[in-house]
Amino acid sequence: PSETKLTSAEVVQITKDTNYGTWRYQKGWNPLHIVDAEGCYITDGNGKKYLDFSSQLMCMNLGHKNPAVIASIAKQAEELAYAMPGYATTTRAELSKLLLEVLPKGLNKFFFTTSGTDANEAAFKIARMYTGKTKIIARYRSYHGSTSGSIAATGDPRRWAMEPRGKGPGIIFAPEVNCYKCPIKHTYPTCGIACVDYLEHMIRNESDVAAVIVEPIVGTNGILVPPSEYMPRLRKICDEYGVLMIADEVMAGWGRCGTWFAMDLWGVTPDILTTAKGITSAYVPLGLCATTEKIGDFFQDHYFSHGHTYEAHPMTLAPAVATIKEMQRLGLVERAKELEPFVEEKLQALKAKHRSIGDVRGKGLFWAVDLVKNRETKEPFNTYVDKVSGKPLVVDQIAGKLAADGVMIQAWVSHIVIAPPLIVTKEELEKGIDALDRHLSIADELCV
Ligand code: PLP
Repeated sequence: PSETKLTSAEVVQITKDTNYGTWRYQKGWNPLHIVDAEGCYITDGNGKKYLDFSSQLMCMNLGHKNPAVIASIAKQAEELAYAMPGYATTTRAELSKLLLEVLPKGLNKFFFTTSGTDANEAAFKIARMYTGKTKIIARYRSYHGSTSGSIAATGDPRRWAMEPRGKGPGIIFAPEVNCYKCPIKHTYPTCGIACVDYLEHMIRNESDVAAVIVEPIVGTNGILVPPSEYMPRLRKICDEYGVLMIADEVMAGWGRCGTWFAMDLWGVTPDILTTAKGITSAYVPLGLCATTEKIGDFFQDHYFSHGHTYEAHPMTLAPAVATIKEMQRLGLVERAKELEPFVEEKLQALKAKHRSIGDVRGKGLFWAVDLVKNRETKEPFNTYVDKVSGKPLVVDQIAGKLAADGVMIQAWVSHIVIAPPLIVTKEELEKGIDALDRHLSIADELCV
């Protein structure tokens, strides 16, 4: 029988009827039917084009339809679609060599996964096997993944849904770094970065600490940029107490912050770096857990008790090779750095105009516009409790208006994320920020 093409309405209906919509109530889920994408734009089933102003989930750093990445996938499929992880493949060796070039120096032993979540799960297991210790210190306002271990180490309230069945074992939380709204009510720089002192205090007063995990620049929870002394100081503390430092660069890595990795901003090498998203520019699912040689050496004589069927899957590695080469060829890391002052200036101008903007912050092409009811009190329009109770959020109303205007943007509880593909032009940046400018009046009018 000849196949009849599904209409857009049918595609949406079947998806809604048969799939889970994630991190939401199923009622009211009305997914957009995406049919095409190119460069910084996506097109829906009605032919409407949108500027992709947050690179989907802050992951399509190269933009859509990069010919070299597409070709690498086709070539790999023809040559060798799968080889079990115990084998060596040419693609695996090529990618490993490139990673040695771009990762912070000293990270030279790799474990390839298929997401950021399982890269962090690997990091926790490696840290525990290596140190023989159990506890992981994570920070509030962080996200490390959706499965048991990584959600237990997630500092934001997405963790709460798991907790009626008990807290994840061996995880403790430190205060986040947030100089706009400090959780311990200090002011930078007079505080002398007291939040790191507190972390040290925790390590000193806890037994059995294996590692500290940090997002070097916190992503979903608000593009929180630490003061420049924070990471070097944390590195020293970890060294002093024999605690491993894990940098979760799932979102902040791959040129997003104007350096290959966010840790490069401060010249700090963690003991373990995890990443995903931009490693293949999201063309295929790949995650990475990279460790130092010292940790690698430990497993010469200790059993490396971890692995997956799809670990180091050739189809996931080939596009990573192509992505890194494309980033180098197009100079995208430098480009993100160059565009930083342009975005900052535009967003500061937006802040001067809109009283609902409490703060704008970021690095490279990774920015948050933080909305508040009142600049004095810094009270947000909504909290996570509003989100999970299904209340319409101010940021979502604004994002909805932008979508109608042809700009897709990610919003989270009380801030809006600006993270376009690194190939974005100044004109496209202006287009997206101008659209935001047009619709911030929704929030301005609610200010008290
Ligand atoms: N860590 C960070 C910092 C993230 O932003 C994310 C996802 O957004 C993850 C981990 C989880 O990655 P994934 O969604 O690929 O499992």
